[in-house]
Amino acid sequence: MIYRVLFNIVVLAAFVITVNAQDYHSYANPAAVRVRHVDLDWDVRFDQKMLKGFATLTVERISPSEPLILDTRDLKIEKVETSADGVRYAPGTFKLGESDKFLGAPLTIPLPAKANRVRIYYSTSPGASGLQWLDPAQTAGKNNPFLFTQSEAIHARSWIPLQDSPGVRVTYAAHVRTPRNLLAVMSAENLSGTARDGDYRFRMLQPIPSYLIALAVGDLQFRSLGPRTGVYAEPHTLAAAARELSDTEKMVVATERTFGPYRWGRYDILVLPPSFPYGGMENPRLTFATPTMLAGDKSLVSLIAHELAHSWSGNLVTNATWRDFWLNEGFTTYLERRIIEAVYGRPREEMEAALGLRDLNEEIAGLEDRDEILHIDLKGRDPDDGSTDIPYEKGALFLRHLEQTFGRARFDQFLKSYFNHFAFQSITTDQFVDYLKQNLLNESPTLAAKVPVDEWINQPGIPASAPRPTSSAFGTVEEHAKRWLDGKVTAAQVPAAKWTTQEWLHFLRYVQDRFENKGANGSERAERLLNHAAAVLPGDSPAVRMAELDNAFHLTRSGNSEIAFQWLLMSIRNRYEAAYPRLEEFLLTIGRRKFIKPLYEELAKTPEGKQRAVAIYRRARPTYHPIAVTTIDDVLKWTEGK
Ligand SMILES: [Zn+2]
Repeated sequence: MIYRVLFNIVVLAAFVITVNAQDYHSYANPAAVRVRHVDLDWDVRFDQKMLKGFATLTVERISPSEPLILDTRDLKIEKVETSADGVRYAPGTFKLGESDKFLGAPLTIPLPAKANRVRIYYSTSPGASGLQWLDPAQTAGKNNPFLFTQSEAIHARSWIPLQDSPGVRVTYAAHVRTPRNLLAVMSAENLSGTARDGDYRFRMLQPIPSYLIALAVGDLQFRSLGPRTGVYAEPHTLAAAARELSDTEKMVVATERTFGPYRWGRYDILVLPPSFPYGGMENPRLTFATPTMLAGDKSLVSLIAHELAHSWSGNLVTNATWRDFWLNEGFTTYLERRIIEAVYGRPREEMEAALGLRDLNEEIAGLEDRDEILHIDLKGRDPDDGSTDIPYEKGALFLRHLEQTFGRARFDQFLKSYFNHFAFQSITTDQFVDYLKQNLLNESPTLAAKVPVDEWINQPGIPASAPRPTSSAFGTVEEHAKRWLDGKVTAAQVPAAKWTTQEWLHFLRYVQDRFENKGANGSERAERLLNHAAAVLPGDSPAVRMAELDNAFHLTRSGNSEIAFQWLLMSIRNRYEAAYPRLEEFLLTIGRRKFIKPLYEELAKTPEGKQRAVAIYRRARPTYHPIAVTTIDDVLKWTEGK
């Protein structure tokens, strides 16, 4: 009961705070008219690839003379009605503005004096950027179509007319009608139970930003994983998914122990078909996840730790604009590693942190200075451009630096109070820095002097005093790699039988570095390796050495998506042609951007590779998600069929 009262106070507090930060990625005017609640009502029409229905927005009139301005993209608006009592609706007028490439078109609706509800009748377009309509052939079961949404960063506006800014939080309810044999799920409480009758109702009572509104429809079944955790998947995938995700409840408990209560009721996971363009999406109460994390040995479940962590960092305390995205992802990557440590032990955490640092160094090598800044300026750009390793890994490294400097116990206390203080709010980087100063840095100027906060947040690169996560297990892997590369043992003699995915990834990256006569970017090892570069590769070409490894360990056939991806990337780089059929199969069946973007980029570096990429992409493109299509079109400078 006390919790309940506290909760309501927190929610009310969130309502009265107005975020002043300018969101360059929304046309909305929440400082004048603010949407508080959204009621949705749709028919899901697979035959037309269309959602058709209406959205009823409850608004707060802060400046009564101002119209309501909403974000839309490719929506067909049929009519608009307004109401002062939520019962009687009168016809209204609207104006749909010019469409911008990134932002879509503003929808302006004049409001009569007492109106506090606006109903918009509309339908989506078949190419809506936030929706993917899958043919049965693109699903695991092959018999039924599938629909899923992806709203982050600014794709909610392609399926709902709303104030599409993370600074605006709304509660929502939905009534969804689907073909009778399919199940609809949303990022909300399901009010219709498990009956599969094509008529489903949902409600989300906590205020969330628009990018967390989510819907999926397909031949889905559910299996419980724990008292408040479970998994949805196609029948074909359900058993494997439940086995892989059996530690989910443990993860929730571990996170609560350190960072405070899980405030969303249930935590379920939806395993999507392989065209999902991301690893996971932290839709509240229902994480959307790629099936490529089902490795069979739980080695890739850090993805679930990550999405679960967003229930605190992101969904509870949210970036107010997309330039504050690192507040979501840096905190979440830090929490993800803490969950992995709590559930799987410190050595596993160290391996993942070391791999993360390497990813970060590699990414930085290819970025412009302006894109290496945590508090990035994205004005005039697609906010998806900011989704590099900078907000994730550099953000996490900054928090690791604070933890190491102030001590874990003190830092955990700080984080817990931060999540409480800003619960159900959307905040800016400046608000975070103020809170950090007042609640951690100011208590010890000596310790604070060791962490260059302004450099971390506002400068490119990584501060010289940053932590450098290392893994002793990786040291051992390197020794074995060296012995094999130097011809002292055969591939079959490399003792890899019990290696984890992380050890394999490190081994392969180390071998590739040696093929290229270099070490990990920026590390001391790089210097040392460069110094004896002449002795790097006695004898055979990299492709011949890869064949040796492949004969011993069957890496081309690896069912582990991370290992397969790393191997295929090396295959392109070293022209290991035996893996090309697998490369083609991989690109034709998986749509996860993290994998396909680097593979197409690597192919595009040579004329023959580019030709191969174009031939594959011509077949793969119709099966990819619109977000992935935008990315790969750009990589290959694609013009066909546009
Ligand atoms: Zn994330």
